[in-house]
Amino acid sequence: MDYKIARQNMVRNQILKRGVKNELVIKAMLEVPRHLFVDKGMQSQSYSDNALPLLRGQTISQPHMVALMSEMLKIEKQHKVLEIGTGCGYQAAVLAVLCDNVYSIERIPELAELAAENLKNAGYRVTQKTGDGTLGWPENAPFDRIIVTAGAPEMPPSLLDQLAEGGLMVAPVGSRSVQTLKLIQKVNGKPIVKNSYDCAFVPLIGESGWKE
Ligand code: SAM
Repeated sequence: MDYKIARQNMVRNQILKRGVKNELVIKAMLEVPRHLFVDKGMQSQSYSDNALPLLRGQTISQPHMVALMSEMLKIEKQHKVLEIGTGCGYQAAVLAVLCDNVYSIERIPELAELAAENLKNAGYRVTQKTGDGTLGWPENAPFDRIIVTAGAPEMPPSLLDQLAEGGLMVAPVGSRSVQTLKLIQKVNGKPIVKNSYDCAFVPLIGESGWKE
């Protein structure tokens, strides 16, 4: 399989068709080798329009969702970005193309290890930690951008605290099974919230998330 052509088809048929326009995001989606982040037995499906299974019942999000969330964040090269839910590391790799400082937290140790290995093999630099991402990463705050890649019952207050003034955060918020993607901007210390797409992420489990 020619993965470069598969990525071009993915961008044309899934990402542009869903209205993604940011050229830097499109370039990142054309560049990051998604097949290096999925299970070896699933590499042939790595550029399909599907969320794919990872260890312990978790998933790698659909490519267009990765692109849409990355575009919503309006990331600039100098930004410091925090991701909650490293999973296999694919979204973190896309973020690492868009800016120089990516931090990512994963609660399941096996997945954090898998992501570290995938990111190293694919050549992306991301600072990782294992733990409850609903508490953020206070030692490295504030963050210009925060992306939550698991479905939350509410916006975790620690993440709002750790978002820089004027910063943007994107998070799926709703029930355990269905959420709305919310874009939050912190203005004068307060969140201004805009609702966008409906979505279905695996649950965010933690102190300000769902119970296990
Ligand atoms: N961004 C990932 C990728 O590119 O593969 C996909 C993320 S997957 C949809 C959601 C991830 O969030 C899972 O790996 C899950 O273990 C993780 N997660 C759930 N609750 C978490 C929490 N409180 N802190 C950190 N990670 C969490």
